[in-house]
Amino acid sequence: MRKKIVAGNWKMNTTLSEGCNLVNEIIEKISQVPDDTILIVCPPFTHLSMVSSLLKDNQAKCSGKLFLGAQNCADKEKGAYTGEVSAKMLSSIDGLDYVILGHSERRGYYGETNQILLEKVKLALAEGLKIIYCVGEELSDREAGKHFDVVGSEIKEVLYLLTNDELNNVVVAYEPIWAIGTGVTATTEQAEQMHSFIRATIREKFGESADQISILYGGSCKPSNSQELFAQKDIDGGLIGGAALKSEDFIAIAKS
Ligand code: PEP
Repeated sequence: MRKKIVAGNWKMNTTLSEGCNLVNEIIEKISQVPDDTILIVCPPFTHLSMVSSLLKDNQAKCSGKLFLGAQNCADKEKGAYTGEVSAKMLSSIDGLDYVILGHSERRGYYGETNQILLEKVKLALAEGLKIIYCVGEELSDREAGKHFDVVGSEIKEVLYLLTNDELNNVVVAYEPIWAIGTGVTATTEQAEQMHSFIRATIREKFGESADQISILYGGSCKPSNSQELFAQKDIDGGLIGGAALKSEDFIAIAKS
C-alpha cells in the first residue's frame, strides 16, 4: 500500500521562534491525523536543528508520524561553494529524512536544470535521504498542449537515471506552476490525469515499482479542496505551501 503523505513547504517564511511555535502546534494536533497518513515539515535551513530537537523531545507523539525535511541541497559534495548546504550536512541532522528537490521556484529563479537536479538527487540519495522530487508545467506549456512533454522530460531526465532501489526513496510532487501560490488549483480531472501519466511514465522504466511510489499534488491545495483531490486514484497526498503555515489548515488537509 502506498504511503499517504502531506508535506509542508514553508519556503522563506517564519523566524526561528515562529517556526518552533508552528511545529509545537502541529505536534499538539498530530493525534488527529489518520494512521495511514504521515506528515513532513520542511522549514528553512536555519530552523532544521531546532525543529529536529523538538521532534526528538516529543518522540512518543511524533515517531513514525511527523518527519523533517529540507527545501534544497547543493549539487556539489563539499568545498568552496559559499552559502551552499550539502546533502551530507543535512543527513548529519538528527531525524532529517527528506529533501525537496526540483521545486519550480528553484528551477525558475535559480536556474536549476534537470542535469543539476540529477546531481542533487544522486548526492542526497547517497547520503540516505529521501527525495520529494517536484515536476510541473507553466501555463503556457499547458495552453500549447505541451504539459505532458514537459513533465515527461522532468521524469525521464532525472528519475530514469536512478536504480530501482534509489527510486524507492523518491516521492514525486506534481505542482502545476500556474497553481502555485496563485489560489488557482488544478481541477481534480487535470490533476488525476497528470498523476496517472506520471505513474505510467515511471512504470515504463521501473515496472511495478511505479505502484509503490507516492505522487503528491501541490498548488493552492487547502482544506476546502484537499479531500476531493486526495480521493483520486493516483493522488497520494499533497505538497502544501501557504496552507502549511497555519497548523489548523495543515492538519485539516492531513485529515482529508
Ligand atoms: C508549493 O510551492 O510547493 C506550493 C504548493 O505552494 P502553494 O500551496 O502556496 O500553492
